[in-house]
Amino acid sequence: MEQRKVDYLLVGQGIAGTMLSFFLQQAGKTVLVMDEGKANSASRVAAGIINPVSGRRFEPAWMYDTIYPFAKATYHQMGALLGEDVFTERDIWMVFPSEQMQQAFKTKTAGVHPSPYTTDPQEDRFAGWLQQPHGAAIVKGATLQLRTLLPAYRQYLLATRSLLEQRLDYRLLEVTDNGVTYQGVKADKIIFCDGVATTNNPWFEKLTFLPNKGEVLLVKIPGLITADIIKKGITLVPQEPEIFWAGSSFVWDYADDHPTAAQGAKLEESLRQLLMVPYEILDQLAAVRPSGNDRRPMIGMHPQQTAIGIFNGLGTKGCSLAPFMAHHFVQHLVGHSPLMPEVDIKRYFK
Ligand SMILES: Cc1cc2nc3c(=O)[nH]c(=O)nc-3n(C[C@H](O)[C@H](O)[C@H](O)COP(=O)(O)OP(=O)(O)OC[C@H]3O[C@@H](n4cnc5c(N)ncnc54)[C@H](O)[C@@H]3O)c2cc1C
Repeated sequence: MEQRKVDYLLVGQGIAGTMLSFFLQQAGKTVLVMDEGKANSASRVAAGIINPVSGRRFEPAWMYDTIYPFAKATYHQMGALLGEDVFTERDIWMVFPSEQMQQAFKTKTAGVHPSPYTTDPQEDRFAGWLQQPHGAAIVKGATLQLRTLLPAYRQYLLATRSLLEQRLDYRLLEVTDNGVTYQGVKADKIIFCDGVATTNNPWFEKLTFLPNKGEVLLVKIPGLITADIIKKGITLVPQEPEIFWAGSSFVWDYADDHPTAAQGAKLEESLRQLLMVPYEILDQLAAVRPSGNDRRPMIGMHPQQTAIGIFNGLGTKGCSLAPFMAHHFVQHLVGHSPLMPEVDIKRYFK
């Protein structure tokens, strides 16, 4: 490998490494990103949904009023840099699976906790397509087009000599008084943005990850053309006319990160409960989400090995969290502002 000296060596070009390298470069730092290009990384399999409402209890997503406008502005900025549309605001057509869920949603989003992100539909957009005896609501969400953003940003990194397409082997990393050296590359700091692979990272064994596997179907629904996300147990996200990402499962106990017949059958059952029309399965994908035990990002430099840091734990919400959190980390790294305690990895080193 050629001899190089950079300010930051980043490991991983999922959404975490992408956003961190973007803000480090904006802050005037030199960056080299090393990525092995794993085909089924979480970011390469995810749908990119940004949803203001979390989980079955319809709680407002954590810090949403802060992170959403920041994410939207950042993705527009990246779109302009790359010459690609990477971000789309979309309605989430949320079909209620039961009367109770409809009531729970109304209580949560109307009366006591009014939500600016939800409305009642004026008309049934999917009559004849979906089974929805308990009705639906509209939630104002968005998608990040990860399958456009990640390769386009990769090309940008390659063109600016800021990407090495290879795997970093932890055992070959030398930690010196002035930073780190990896083969020919010297860096003041290395930051691991390596997703679930970091569960084997010897410097961050104290961090408690609860990785979970998600499986997804790619389906064709002949004649169904919409810009909306459709959600009822399973979530359909439009990819191109008639083609939808349909997912995803949550499994904490899994043998490997490959698709399984069992989860494929469960996803198909959910599809049958949602659709009134025929569909065709085109593909099945699987990946593992890098979730932490407290569902908060894991950000910071190692308390003893101060040249080694981590940007991880984005869990189920990488697309909404990554821009704000990457910017927050960069402000800490270059401006020495403190990290929010909820995301600072110091919480694991007490
Ligand atoms: C099925 C599924 C659906 C999801 N849907 C959504 C969604 O709709 N919206 C949302 O916000 N989030 C979603 N998520 C979660 C989202 O995918 C994650 O929060 C996010 O992708 C995590 O990004 P990351 O960059 O931390 O990790 P990753 O995407 O896993 O990226 C890690 C990168 O590091 C590289 N790497 C790892 N080790 C090394 C090494 N030693 N050397 C070199 N490179 C290395 C890998 O190749 C990879 O590119 C979903 C996840 C799954 C699995």
